[in-house]
Amino acid sequence: MKAWEKNIRRVTPYTPGEQPQKEKIIKLNTNENPYPPAPGVPEALRRLDTDLLRRYPDPSAGRLVKAIADSQGLKPEQVFAGVGSDDVLAMCFMTFFNSEKPILFPDITYSFYDVWAEVFRIPYETQPLNENFDIVAEDYYKENGGVIFPNPNAPTGVECPQEMIEDILRQNQDVIVIVDEAYVDFGAVSAVPLLEKYENLIVVQTFSKSRSLAGMRIGYAMANPALIKYLNDVKYSFNSYTMNQTAIAAGVASLEDPEYFNETIQKIVDTRERAKARLRQLGFSFRDSKSNFIFAAHESCPAKELFDALREQDIYVRYFAKPRIDNYLRITIGTDEEMDAFFAFLERYLKHR
Ligand code: PMP
Repeated sequence: MKAWEKNIRRVTPYTPGEQPQKEKIIKLNTNENPYPPAPGVPEALRRLDTDLLRRYPDPSAGRLVKAIADSQGLKPEQVFAGVGSDDVLAMCFMTFFNSEKPILFPDITYSFYDVWAEVFRIPYETQPLNENFDIVAEDYYKENGGVIFPNPNAPTGVECPQEMIEDILRQNQDVIVIVDEAYVDFGAVSAVPLLEKYENLIVVQTFSKSRSLAGMRIGYAMANPALIKYLNDVKYSFNSYTMNQTAIAAGVASLEDPEYFNETIQKIVDTRERAKARLRQLGFSFRDSKSNFIFAAHESCPAKELFDALREQDIYVRYFAKPRIDNYLRITIGTDEEMDAFFAFLERYLKHR
């Protein structure tokens, strides 16, 4: 080992889902929205004054922050925008999780949480979901350095009831509690109204799923102005110009079209409900999902075998070779046509294997 090697920050990185560069694939592996962003988004990008690209963007992304605040019935001082919710969550870990005590999050959850904890050297302790993949509120009553969980949870799609979220908040008034609402728009209840009551709550959302803008990278945190100020202080100590001109323009345009937003979500929810019935017929079981994916196990065919067989046909779903979930597939809801092709293959495969 070279002497300098001992000074290197070594981490096991997060593994994102595959982004195959082939055309003509059915991509149900990274919870992207199968529909395009609102028509106003490409329009805003076409209209973008290219002289803006010569200049640095507004470091506060003020237009976007104001548009997000308006859409949520909040004040701009209660909103922090970042480069996808991954960036916002990373900033939150750095800003708010600085205790010697461990932060708490579920054992089965978004697999970036332990990576951020490792990279920022934050002690953490995972709390097991019960056998039905529900969060057990009492596990979060103990002393800790902060709490974070997604609602609905990922990769399970299971919603945490509002009363349980409030219970966890009530038991954790001395630390920051982050609710990661990446998938909340697909039918779960948001914790945003609880912001009025709990000054230690942070709710994080994204434009990547329900707004079809994963490629643009826009996420945001909502909290009381004091917490948003602390987040901004850390952000400005790191990189002032996180939101580029195109992201600001695209994000604002997306928020200007609530009808399109609601329509797209309704289409995905309808397809999801049909997919649940079809999966049951094919012998899959799963907890009810309030997200744009279903986390399902088959009664006889191992998940890894199905994952490989699907991939062979250029149908991509997500498989996690991890304890407790290695017999499940996470299936993103695509268009009806994509789901039909997926089910047609499954039906043939399961009959003839
Ligand atoms: N939180 C959860 C639970 C997620 O599944 C994802 C998507 N990978 C994110 C946050 C981050 O999404 P983005 O950075 O695209 O906003």
